[in-house]
Amino acid sequence: MSDNNQFEPGEQPKASWEPEHEGAAGGAHFRSEVNELYGHEQAGRHLTALLTDLGERNLYDAAAQCNRCGYCETSCPTYMLTGRETISARGRNQFVRMLVEGRTKSPDAAAESFSTCLLCGACSSACYAKVPTPDIVLEGRRSLTGYGDNFFARAAVNTLLNAPRLFAFWLKLAYLAKLTGLPRLAAKMGLYDFIGMPGLAEAEGAVNKVPLRFASELLRRDPELGTEGKKQLGWAYFAACGPNFLFTEVAQATVRILKKTSGPGIFVDNQCCGLMAHNYGRLDDAREFARRNILRYEELKAEHGDFPVIADCASCTAFMKGYEQLFTGDADWRPRAKAFAAAVKDILEFIPAEKAGRADPAALAAAGTVTYHDSCRACHGQGIRQEPRAVLHKLAGKNFRELPESDWCCGGAGAFAFTQPELSNKVLDRKLRNIASVQAGTVVVGATSCLAQINAGLRAAYPSARAVHYSVFIDEVAEKT
Ligand code: SF4
Ligand code: SF4
Repeated sequence: MSDNNQFEPGEQPKASWEPEHEGAAGGAHFRSEVNELYGHEQAGRHLTALLTDLGERNLYDAAAQCNRCGYCETSCPTYMLTGRETISARGRNQFVRMLVEGRTKSPDAAAESFSTCLLCGACSSACYAKVPTPDIVLEGRRSLTGYGDNFFARAAVNTLLNAPRLFAFWLKLAYLAKLTGLPRLAAKMGLYDFIGMPGLAEAEGAVNKVPLRFASELLRRDPELGTEGKKQLGWAYFAACGPNFLFTEVAQATVRILKKTSGPGIFVDNQCCGLMAHNYGRLDDAREFARRNILRYEELKAEHGDFPVIADCASCTAFMKGYEQLFTGDADWRPRAKAFAAAVKDILEFIPAEKAGRADPAALAAAGTVTYHDSCRACHGQGIRQEPRAVLHKLAGKNFRELPESDWCCGGAGAFAFTQPELSNKVLDRKLRNIASVQAGTVVVGATSCLAQINAGLRAAYPSARAVHYSVFIDEVAEKT
């Protein structure tokens, strides 16, 4: 199928464009060194190699693993909702190949193709060769001139990296401002468009409550989470930014269920995992976040021996499990990143069903019909599907109903809901219809982006149901002992 006269699947492009060529619409540019993507000479901006199921590959060879069979097309939400070849996995991989070869008909179409990808990974799950399309798309995005150069995004990442306490202070000021209703007014007045961050208006609407005390502040004060007097650790809790800065009840619930089921543990007192920097064009910053977390892990390991690092946002957990890919060109850090990644576990996979306890009948009745949404970075990113279901079956019994298309993305996808609101809402709409079809009262999720996105949708379209994080559900429903 032709899409905007770009290319047919399998077609060799007939026209070429020069790097730095301006598209017909005067929009997208690619950096002049675009062909160096092949050689990965821009180490600060591009990955040295991609770790694929078929081995370590450079970008071109990774994209070339896509044989354009189309088997993944029906798994791709953006393709299914639009029918457009250029915004399918096959189209995206082909655009990257053409970019590296220095040939494409329209840089604007390539930019659109990359920016509309949810990075959900459903295509990779469906693909026999397990082509890592999300990683390939991210490399394509990083080749866009100006990608990740927004002043406010850059300031946020820099402050989070270099002055985390200042970041926390600014965030609290923003939350206080939200409580006054000013951000809603700013959104209505179009101020976010003015500063080049229209997505903030969507973000403002997606969040309906904000904490004035962050999880890390609370956990640092918990005497049971200190390292003193502890030899072996059953677990170490890693506070990802979502549970730390926004959904603090998730962090607290995770720690409570870990204490109850898994023996003594500690709070890592970690840095951001680096995912935000990684996905928004700041690879060097992502590496620095990763190095700091690895160092912290090594320091604790020297004192306590092996222990699992538990996080409760599937996006961050999946990213940390892939830290090795950040350091493929670094002989010192690569094995250290691999060792850290091996210790990382998602709370979704960590609690065995036999330790989940029994459900409190009143709490279970209040939950109504319980269903489970497979967060993309849990199922596609980490292969976690059965473990949380075993726990939910045990706790909810006959109240559990399988969600149709449970691994269809919710459209949250990090900042996708804010950068591509129209497409995001279409993806979400299908999720909400499926939730309504099982008459769910409670939708259990494993990532904080899904929590914000599905709850925003439910509040508007199906307010008798709510989404809750897996840890919060267990904490609420399991009998207190
Ligand atoms: S990504 Fe995989 S399944 Fe999809 S078209 Fe390419 S080879 Fe086929
Ligand atoms: S990551 Fe998701 S949106 Fe992107 S090509 Fe794959 S299935 Fe489609």
